[in-house]
Order: sequence, then C-alpha cells, then structure tokens
Amino acid sequence: MGLFGGRKTVFVDADILVIGGGMAGCGATYESRYWGRDLKIVCVEKANIERSGAVAQGLYAINCYMGMQWGENQPEDHVRYARNDLMGLVREDLGYDIARHVDSTVHKFEEWGLPIMRDPKTGRYQREGKWQIMIHGESYKPIVAEAARKAATEVYNRIMVTHLLTDTTKANRVAGAVGFNVRTGDFYVFQGKAVIVCAGGASHIFKPRSVGEGMGRTWYAPWSSASAYALPIQVGAKMTQMENRIVLTRFKDGYGPVGAYFLHLKTYTQNGYGEEYEKRWYEDTKALVGDYIDRHPVPTCLRNHAILKEVAAGRGPIRMVTKEAFQDPHKETVGWENFLGMTIGQAVVWASQNIDPKEINPELTTSEPYVMGSHATCSGAWASGPEDYAPAEYQWGYNRMMTVDGLFGAGDTIGGTAHKFSSGSFTEGRIAAKAAVKYIMDMGKDQPQVNEEEYRDLEREVFQPMENYRVGRNEIVAGTVSPSYLLPIHGLQRLEKIMDEYVGGISTNYMTNGVLLNRGLELLAMLKEDMSHMGAEDLHQLQRTWELDHRLVASESVTRHTLFREETRWPGYYYRGDHMKLDDENWHCFTLSRYDRNTGKWEMEKAPVYHIVD
Ligand SMILES: Cc1cc2nc3c(=O)[nH]c(=O)nc-3n(C[C@H](O)[C@H](O)[C@H](O)COP(=O)(O)OP(=O)(O)OC[C@H]3O[C@@H](n4cnc5c(N)ncnc54)[C@H](O)[C@@H]3O)c2cc1C
Repeated sequence: MGLFGGRKTVFVDADILVIGGGMAGCGATYESRYWGRDLKIVCVEKANIERSGAVAQGLYAINCYMGMQWGENQPEDHVRYARNDLMGLVREDLGYDIARHVDSTVHKFEEWGLPIMRDPKTGRYQREGKWQIMIHGESYKPIVAEAARKAATEVYNRIMVTHLLTDTTKANRVAGAVGFNVRTGDFYVFQGKAVIVCAGGASHIFKPRSVGEGMGRTWYAPWSSASAYALPIQVGAKMTQMENRIVLTRFKDGYGPVGAYFLHLKTYTQNGYGEEYEKRWYEDTKALVGDYIDRHPVPTCLRNHAILKEVAAGRGPIRMVTKEAFQDPHKETVGWENFLGMTIGQAVVWASQNIDPKEINPELTTSEPYVMGSHATCSGAWASGPEDYAPAEYQWGYNRMMTVDGLFGAGDTIGGTAHKFSSGSFTEGRIAAKAAVKYIMDMGKDQPQVNEEEYRDLEREVFQPMENYRVGRNEIVAGTVSPSYLLPIHGLQRLEKIMDEYVGGISTNYMTNGVLLNRGLELLAMLKEDMSHMGAEDLHQLQRTWELDHRLVASESVTRHTLFREETRWPGYYYRGDHMKLDDENWHCFTLSRYDRNTGKWEMEKAPVYHIVD
C-alpha cells in the first residue's frame, strides 16, 4: 500500500474524455453526444463548468461571427483577416474550417437563451466591428455549460488533471488521464478511448505588471495555467508557434478591453501631449517589417509597436480619448456596461483612482505576454486538418487530432488558428468531437489500455509535494520558510522572473536575443530540478504546484521556439535583438517542436505555410 495507501482512487471509464470544460470543452462535450448517442462522454474540469475558464465572468461581445445569413462576411474573408493580423502565418485550413461553422454555433447560443443585441434598423445582430457582435453576456458561460451538462454522461468538477496516460501497447497513443480532486484529495484515473484537451491558455508565465497589491489582476484569467500545452507536450505531441505570445494594449491597471471603445464608441488614442503618434513610427516600422505595415487593418502587434516606441521616446503615457464619446449618454452607458459585463475590475480601478472617462482620458498600457491559441495569436498543438480542405502535409488522420493517436484538442489548445475567440473555440470543440467520435467508431476492438504501473507512479509523484511539506514543516525557521521545500508561490515568482528578464517580458521592453534565451533555458532547467522539492501545505497548494509545473513546461516550449525562430516576426509582441527584422525568405514558415520525455530532449523543425485562400 505504501505511503499513500489511505487515499481513495476513483476509476472512470469513458469513450470520450474531455479535459477542461471552458468554451471549447463545452463545445466538444455537446457535439460528442450529437454524433455518439450511445457513447460515454465525460468532461473533467478543475473548477466548475458553470463559471470556469476565460469566459467565467461573462463577455460583452462575441468576437467571431461571419454573418453569412446576411452576406456580411464569408469564411475566406476571415482567413484573410487572421492571416494579415498574424503577419502571414496561420493554418488557413483550420481557420477556414472554424469560420465556415461558427455562425451555426452562435445561432445555437441564441436558441439556448443568450441575449444578442439587435440593430433596431436592420434587425440583424448589432455589430461592434466587422467580426464582433454585441451580447448581454454576463451569463454566457452558464448558458453554454448547461448544454454541455445535458449532453455529458458525467461532468467531474474540481478535478485538476495533471498528466495524460499513454497506451500499454502503442507508445504514441493516448489512453486517458490522471488528476486529483482539489476538495477531497481523491486520486482519479480516467480511461478514454479518445481524449480532447480543452484546458485553456496560459497567464502568469511572464511576470505581470501588477505584482504585490495587484497580484492576480492579469488580463488573461489567472487560473489559465498552461495545462492545454503541458499535457500534450509531455506525451510527445508536436507544438507550433509557441513563440507567438500575445501582448495586449489595455486600460492601465484593470486590463479593461478596448475593442468596444475603438470599434463601437469610436474613441482613439493619443500620446501624453495630446498628439497622434502612430504615423510618426511608420517609416521605422516599415524598415522592420516591410509592406506588412501597409496592410489593412494594421496588424495588432504593429499597433503595439508604435505605442512602445512612443513611450520609449519619452512621450507617454498613451491615453484613450474618451472625453468626447462619453458626452453622448448612450455611449457613456455602453462604455461602462462593457466592463460590468466582463471586466468589473476595470470599473472598480477607475473608481478607486478618481477616473471618470467623461472628464479624464484614461491611460492605456501594454500587458505582460500570454500564451494562447484563440485570441490574436496562435500558439498551440500541431493538429491534423479537415479532410476536404487541408493540404496533404497537414493531414494524418482525423480533424484536430494531434501527432499523438487519439489525442484531440480545441480552443486555446490548438495552434495556428488565431482569432477564433469564444465562439470559434466552442466551434472547434464541436469539430474535434465529431472527429473523435469517428476515431472511436473506426477503432474496433483495438482499444487503448492504461498501465497500472504508470498511474501508480504518477500518483506518488502527484502527491509528493504534500509529503515534502509534511516532513519539511518541522524545520520551519520563521513564518512559512523552511530549508527543505519551495512553496508554489516562490516557484511561480521565480518562473515569472526568468521569463520576464530572459524571454522578452515587460522589464526588457519585450526584448530578447540568443544569449539571453540560452541563459533563460539554463535557469529554467534549474527550476525544473527544484520542482521535486515543492512543498504543498494543503490541496489548494497542491493544485498551485501542478499549475506551476504546467506553466514551467509551457515556458520551456516558448523559450525554445523563440530561440529557434531567428527573426522578429511580430514587433510589439517581442523582439529578437540579434535578428531585428522580419525575414520572409527564411522564416515564412511554422515552427514545430517535439519533446521526448524519455530523453528530455526537444527537436525543432520548420513546416511550410500553405496559402489556400487567395
Ligand atoms: C479578458 C478576456 C476577454 C475576452 N474577451 C472576449 C470577447 O469579448 N469575445 C470573445 O468572443 N472572446 C473573448 N475572449 C476569448 C475567449 O474567452 C477564449 O477564446 C475562450 O475562452 C477560449 O476557450 P478555451 O476553451 O480554449 O479556454 P477556456 O474557456 O479558458 O477554458 C479552459 C477550461 O479548462 C479548465 N482547465 C484548465 N486546466 C485544467 C486542468 N489541468 N484540469 C482540468 N481542467 C482544466 C479551466 O478551468 C477552464 O474551464 C476573451 C478572453 C479573455 C481572457
């Protein structure tokens, strides 16, 4: 029985195992039932799907809607838009696949009770911008979760998945996952014939601007802990574009979104002296990226670049000019409601800092970098594309299957497909689920088996930090400090510092180079060694420990990709000081990595970018 003999182990058999019940996970769970009427569909979530993931506190807009019923946009238009914004590099097959299905997803949301605003003149959905429609979205997540709950055979809330399991006979095939209940401490072993990872993006891998009093106030949800990347990486799935971290221009200190302000309220920005500044940096940017600066709309990273340059030139802060728009009572209401529906914290910050946007133009700033696959960047797993649309080189089986058999993904998990947002993530979950059901149907009797030795070893590893604490606490010298263990918060701050200083975070103004990245890798390796000394006081801290572990794995991937791509493709997201220019001749390609858990080595390679849409 050993040390952990008293702990209950719960075994769950599933046909389809969905990990993470956010937008993509709810989509995957819902669609699995549609195609797999008799299948056992299990959704596992570390929080509670009712209010989990990046959409937990609601949204004010659905950012990906074509409007094909009114001839507003076609899927090809969206591919062109995403390609332009990502400086040429997107998986057009995957993006097209989402765009052609996303409208039907949004129609379902409305059918399920999500209030979508209508334009009183046309009767169409109220547009915020070309791709965005406005919603009363405080209850967006509970509405979507209800559909998943009704579709699932079982939803397991409060289970933090720590590792995937592989098949006993085929090393490159997934067989399930393990995790623990963050409330009871029970150990869970899930068997799954197909596994769909939908575990969201990554915040807190770079040091945030808000530390100390403001810690936890980040743009992307603080609970987005990189599991979407770490779980597949550790079983050898290939990753793509992990260097393509995102930096957001947001209202200062509260990270309030600016989309509705720019697009709907028609506000604009100026420097600290009330001047327009973007044009000033046109030639400078052109020298770095060539014609990409002339594209319309100007790619998000390049707009960041102008802000960074202007502030570095001593003419900050950058402000959003709200005073004019807020004189209109309707716009004033929309401006505030925009935060109340999804980022209440920004309204509170303004109130606490005596900022009334009718009287004062509020400051903007650029955030610390995040890693995600569903917003204006496309980090994530390298996935097989749709049969009818993907080039042969992008197809090795089932749509959205990674390079590990039976392992699927959606939302932030899947790389190469920027600008899918909430609706596109749900849609991609549906696409992945349909393919996963087919995978199971085709499987016949050749079903994966979990290995008892593997999951028992993992059980020991998963709970070791609690044992470290139990033993080490006897040596506490003051407060919580013990020479024998490292607390998760210390590990997290160490990780954030390394990533910040060596991999292009805020303190270096997003600048890095080969020398820094190599040193960063050395320091990450030392942190990795120290992870066996983590001490967890309780189950909450145990969860923090495994979240840190996942963040660390993803961080190494980000660092290796950043080192591999010897160019500055996205100025404004990060800069390679030793390769300051965009280099289409050598780097108009995807970067791919594969981690080998047996050797601990990473292999890097390039993959071609196919432009399918003209
Ligand atoms: C601040 C902000 C504003 C946004 N604004 C908009 C907007 O206005 N419009 C729009 O359309 N989109 C918006 N988005 C984007 C949208 O929220 C994401 O695209 C979408 O949520 C991604 O879906 P996902 O399922 O990949 O991740 P999530 O929805 O974040 O879901 C991931 C789920 O996995 C769970 N999980 C994570 N790790 C584990 C683990 N180890 N074990 C078990 N469960 C785990 C999480 O708890 C979570 O429930 C915004 C995002 C943010 C952060």
